[in-house]
Amino acid sequence: MSDWIDFTGKIVLVTGSSRGIGAGLVEAFNRFGARCVVNYVADPQGRNEAEARQVAAGLKNVLVIEADVSNPAAVAAMFDRVQRELGGLDILINNAGIIRDRSIKKISADDWNAVLNINLNGTFHCIQHASPMLRPGGRVLNLASVAGSLGLFGQASYASSKAAIMALTRVAARELARQQVTVNAIAPGFIDTDMTRAMPEEVAKKFLEQLPAGRIGKVGDIVDAALFLCSPHADYITGQVLHVNGGFHMAG
Ligand code: NAP
Repeated sequence: MSDWIDFTGKIVLVTGSSRGIGAGLVEAFNRFGARCVVNYVADPQGRNEAEARQVAAGLKNVLVIEADVSNPAAVAAMFDRVQRELGGLDILINNAGIIRDRSIKKISADDWNAVLNINLNGTFHCIQHASPMLRPGGRVLNLASVAGSLGLFGQASYASSKAAIMALTRVAARELARQQVTVNAIAPGFIDTDMTRAMPEEVAKKFLEQLPAGRIGKVGDIVDAALFLCSPHADYITGQVLHVNGGFHMAG
């Protein structure tokens, strides 16, 4: 990205930014001048906190906040703290997400609920609490997935959550337009992170064979799209889903 991207003075919160795409996003926004909030969810071993603190250690002027996005009270407390300590919000990126692939016949109610609760409900809670704080010129960016358009085998919960995020993106875009806030989604294809590294090797190989670009996506491919959509250059783009997938799916 060239120097026509500048987020100096902006406050950016990225959910699930202890690793993967989320960590790449806070690092990039911070590099281009933004003050960032790194969010993680606590686990009994303290691994997530350690990873979040490691991400923060490489950044300037950063706030680390623990909150499970599927818990509305925790989300409310996170945004209260952002308001109190940073004085407002310019960019919310709903990145936190999980995947629990099982065929419809085999998926448990617990797995179904966990995916919907974190991916979809978490995105909703964050938009709801962030909306009153977002300043004019603000941005909401949601991480959807190609699965939400294609409905890939074994991804009933994940694909449904991501398709719903696309619909929520369009509703929020209409509702927040009056406060000069745009709302868009990025639908990544197959990006090299812990999430895809956990896939069985034969599934990953099959994906790769279907990629016109001939390579798996990098975190930087998503970060570049996010920087553009959150910049003033994308002021007139709202309610859209940008597919970033190396040609795996070409939406009409
Ligand atoms: P990842 O490496 O598994 O990272 C997911 C992040 O979400 C982690 O930081 C995790 O935090 C956080 N998280 C999980 N549950 C949370 C909760 N309840 N509250 C707060 N944070 C939570 O995944 P990724 O590949 O970077 O994916 C990022 C986003 O892109 C997800 O929404 C994913 O669905 C989407 N996406 C990814 C791909 C891909 O190919 N990688 C493709 C399409 C869409 P902890 O470390 O604290 O658990």
